[in-house]
Amino acid sequence: MSSQKLNDADADVRSASESALETARRQLSEAATQVDVDSGVIERLKHPTRVVEVTVPLKRDDGEVDVFTGYRAQHDDVRGPYKGGLRYHPDVTAEECVGLSMWMTWKCAVMDLPFGGGKGGVVVDPKTLSDDEKERLTRRFAEEIRDTIGPKRDIPAPDMGTDAQTMAWFMDAYSMQEGETTPGVVTGKPPVVGGSEGRDEAPGRSVAIIAREAADYYDYDLEETTVAVQGFGSVGANAARLLDDWGATVVAVSDVNGAAYDPSGLDTHSVPSHEEQPEAVMQYGAPNTLTNEELLELDVDVLIPAAVGNAITADNANDVEADVVVEGANGPTTAAADSILDERDVHVIPDILANAGGVTVSYFEWLQDINRRQWSLERVNDELESMMLDAWETVRREVEAGDTSWRQAAYIVALDRIGEAKETRGLWP
Ligand code: GLU
Repeated sequence: MSSQKLNDADADVRSASESALETARRQLSEAATQVDVDSGVIERLKHPTRVVEVTVPLKRDDGEVDVFTGYRAQHDDVRGPYKGGLRYHPDVTAEECVGLSMWMTWKCAVMDLPFGGGKGGVVVDPKTLSDDEKERLTRRFAEEIRDTIGPKRDIPAPDMGTDAQTMAWFMDAYSMQEGETTPGVVTGKPPVVGGSEGRDEAPGRSVAIIAREAADYYDYDLEETTVAVQGFGSVGANAARLLDDWGATVVAVSDVNGAAYDPSGLDTHSVPSHEEQPEAVMQYGAPNTLTNEELLELDVDVLIPAAVGNAITADNANDVEADVVVEGANGPTTAAADSILDERDVHVIPDILANAGGVTVSYFEWLQDINRRQWSLERVNDELESMMLDAWETVRREVEAGDTSWRQAAYIVALDRIGEAKETRGLWP
């Protein structure tokens, strides 16, 4: 995609729901004012290295052929190979992939992982695909972007609409064509084919760890902390259940149909997660139900938006009653909403820190694949805990030193690391 097209997207800031790229660029521009990084480096970081667009034909089960569009956006690789998920969703666009790939660059840098940022996907509603169709689509998509990716170049992973099985098909397709089994080409695979123990749970676990640390930082006793979670998929359900296990009171969880609500606390393990039974939260039989909008406005200590992007916007940010927002989804808060929450002293712990457990355990998986040696679940969780606490401490120091928001602080940490790497490597040629 040309930079002209990206600039067009950048100019389109009037639309009611801001695109991921617009949000990502605004956040970068704001953070750039607070770091000592060359303006040329900042300018470069507003653009991806490349965006590959491919056509993915699929033979449906009835023999008809449908044609889909796929993308892989590679934002920056100064610190290591591009890294980030592949999503199957009807709203996937090139611009969205670029915005999300930028967040991956910052996320990997905040965690101090030796990766840059990438993101891709196929414009398809996965609910309309049979398992066989999903497999064929995945294999053909893998083939179409095979020259773009690789274990030392760009390593995809699961994201919205894709899962461990999708990654297993993807790895198999790549390996068959390359003539050698190459587990390190994607992460988030099932452990039996080179995946890591604990990878599925990792984004939710990191959200729970960061929510726990944030509660502690703002002097809440976890036993007395109330939590609401929007989205009960992999991130939301794992975060809610861990916080519940650690003593917090999870009063509300939701899926697309609405929220189960119990002011005295839900038994989160009994509410079916999306993986266990899709869209069944409302069937749980909670004493009260709410809409997703009402969940976001609950007077709780910690709100975790873990569903889609742009959940908290200028329209509802004034109604958020939580004291702390821990972002489980990627980009759940628009830039306008972020400013409103900041003015209202609602502390927003950003996605690039809070949900970074996914890519961190992806890094562990990649190490295990390269070394052909599997880690125990205990080791994965211990190392994840220690890396999350290190990142939390680094960002916390920045918050206190610069009197900034948590998002600004996380961006400053990321930009400092990326800027230093760019200046040290220099511009080629
Ligand atoms: N899709 C996940 C994210 O947004 C994980 C990416 C990865 O593991 O590479 O962070």
